[in-house]
Amino acid sequence: MMVLTKKMIEIRSILQKVGQTAALQLPSIVVIGSQSSGKSSVLEAIVGHEFLPKGSNMVTRRPIELTLINTPDSPSEYGEFPALGLGRITDFAQIQKTLTDLNLAVPEADCVSDDPIQLNIYSPTVPDLSLIDLPGYIQISALDQPEELKAKIAALCDKYIQPPNVILAISAADVDLANSTALRASRRVDPRGERTIGVITKMDLVDPGRGNAILKDRNYPLRLGYVGVVCRAPSAKFSFGRNVNITNAISKNENTFFGAHPEFAAPDSGVTVGTTNLRKKLMFVLEQTMAQSLQATSDAIHQELEEATYEFKVQYNDRPLTAETYLAESLDKFKHSFKDFTEHFGRPQVRQLLKHELDQKVLDFLASRYWNKPLSEDKPWDRQDERPISELPNADPENLYWHRRLDASTSALTKLGVGRLATNVVANALQQHMDRLISESTFRAHPFAKQAIQEATNAILNERFYSTSDQVENCIKPYKFEIEVDDREWAQSRENSQNSLKEELKACEEALKNLKSNIGTKKLVQVMSFVDKLRQGEHADMKEGTEAFGFSQPLLQKGREGVFLRDRAEILKMRLYALKSKQCATSANKYHCPEIFLDVVAEKLTSTAVLFLNVELLSEFYYNFPRELDNRLGRHLSQQQVESFAKEDPKIRKHIELQQRKELLELALEKMESLMALEKSKKAPVVGE
Ligand code: GDP
Repeated sequence: MMVLTKKMIEIRSILQKVGQTAALQLPSIVVIGSQSSGKSSVLEAIVGHEFLPKGSNMVTRRPIELTLINTPDSPSEYGEFPALGLGRITDFAQIQKTLTDLNLAVPEADCVSDDPIQLNIYSPTVPDLSLIDLPGYIQISALDQPEELKAKIAALCDKYIQPPNVILAISAADVDLANSTALRASRRVDPRGERTIGVITKMDLVDPGRGNAILKDRNYPLRLGYVGVVCRAPSAKFSFGRNVNITNAISKNENTFFGAHPEFAAPDSGVTVGTTNLRKKLMFVLEQTMAQSLQATSDAIHQELEEATYEFKVQYNDRPLTAETYLAESLDKFKHSFKDFTEHFGRPQVRQLLKHELDQKVLDFLASRYWNKPLSEDKPWDRQDERPISELPNADPENLYWHRRLDASTSALTKLGVGRLATNVVANALQQHMDRLISESTFRAHPFAKQAIQEATNAILNERFYSTSDQVENCIKPYKFEIEVDDREWAQSRENSQNSLKEELKACEEALKNLKSNIGTKKLVQVMSFVDKLRQGEHADMKEGTEAFGFSQPLLQKGREGVFLRDRAEILKMRLYALKSKQCATSANKYHCPEIFLDVVAEKLTSTAVLFLNVELLSEFYYNFPRELDNRLGRHLSQQQVESFAKEDPKIRKHIELQQRKELLELALEKMESLMALEKSKKAPVVGE
């Protein structure tokens, strides 16, 4: 058995993954011949299937690196294009179509390309061989095939017929051998005929005596000899149906033909004929050539490995890294940072977030229901049913007007959809924190992982959103009907609301200051006093939209803003004074101190909502997220996905690729060395013989 070739083909497929450099090329059999010499027919007879592109137009434009792999234990026959990742193709017509498409993809203008197509064929009937099919030499330049094409094809063939490759030179019997382009090309690179096998096709087209003479040709003596074949397949498609193996049909055909002529069949004919013999010869010659190139190839692998090892040491300090370990480490680190986050984002933080949100709502209600009133009666006031804010401290405790104000504000607060608002606030905060965690992790350079984490986050939050929101809304329901306040709560909220108003006052004063520095204090005072007069009815003749007294519309707008801020600040100061006063010290006077009462409500809403948010959203999220993360980025990813994930980061990609290269070279070298040991032991004389 030809063990060596099989093993070398294995090594070759490893080296192909490393990325072939010229030094790492293992010997192949290169098939050359002029157009119509019967080159395709010979290759198809070896493979046993019609699979090569056909047509009057020159169809082979790229080299086809054909690797035949004998699979004695499996009856199935199939092809694979390793570079295309199309998987197993069992229909040889499909292989033919793919090859045709790949060839036709070479632009007409380029004629030929030296980018090889790799095709592996697995079958129990093929020998282990590696063959390279090249575009056929053109004899006569046709009109549509320019002269330069001839030169291009010759150059491409020359590149491949260099040592250590074996040349399979195809010539047709019905063409004078002296005119064989294939033999002439071979002669140029292999002048002593040491690595060329001559194949003479179409033996059926010449007289057997002449056929015998051709095979014994002395003009072009070849050490490996000539083989005569008759490869015209009995039309496979019609007589056998597609996809049927034609090996037997061809050899039967050949046996009949050669058997009928003593010039070929006689034991002393001195010639070799038939595709079966050709196949054997190819296997034998390739095996021998492989054996001869063992040392050189092994040295080349050694050299490449040394370089890769050195680079790995210098660049990465020998730190091992695979796509899997990289992903696992990144996941681990991320989970760690997540855990850390969960310890710092709990009830107190949620409480603070939510209270802040409700504080804003309270301020809005206060502004729209209290602070938008004029300061006092002596300012213009056109709505008779409204009361100036200055009246509030002295309001009659039984005054319905102020009762209604507070009740309406309270009800607006409790009914604003606290469930949704609270759930949203927390969900948004979680999303933001997750984005931050991503941006601080190695995943920031990985769009795929980033998306997976965001999707995991959203999936859990979306799943919990409605039930959480409903639960919270249900639980705060009692507050829509009644709010009870104890002294402690009141005191706390009295402090809260003062702080809140102080903040607001500060913001107001800040804005006014900015306005002043923007347009100048003097100008602002002028335009503000003009706006005041406008309000009090002076300049009543001035219509909105006209420019007046040298004030442009934008300036007037600023003036109004200034007046608003000044009044708001005044009200806030007044209310702060009121909140500090004795009147606001007890909840009995809640109608006089709406700021405090609304804060009590906001506090109660917050506390209740937080309880449920914690259980329904936070804990659920914290429990489910790591699991969801494993689902999306853990064991469910295919090897290919893990690999493409890791390689998204160019630095990691380089590291992994170098390591892979090193490992592949190590593997190739190991196989190579054991192969060499095996060869050596074969050659060693057996003791006792
Ligand atoms: P290529 O252009 O060199 O690949 O040649 P093909 O294999 O396509 O063969 C060219 C023509 O020669 C086709 O019509 C084949 O059927 C025919 N042919 C190939 N081998 C033989 C043979 O051994 N005998 C005969 N009579 N015709 C053959």
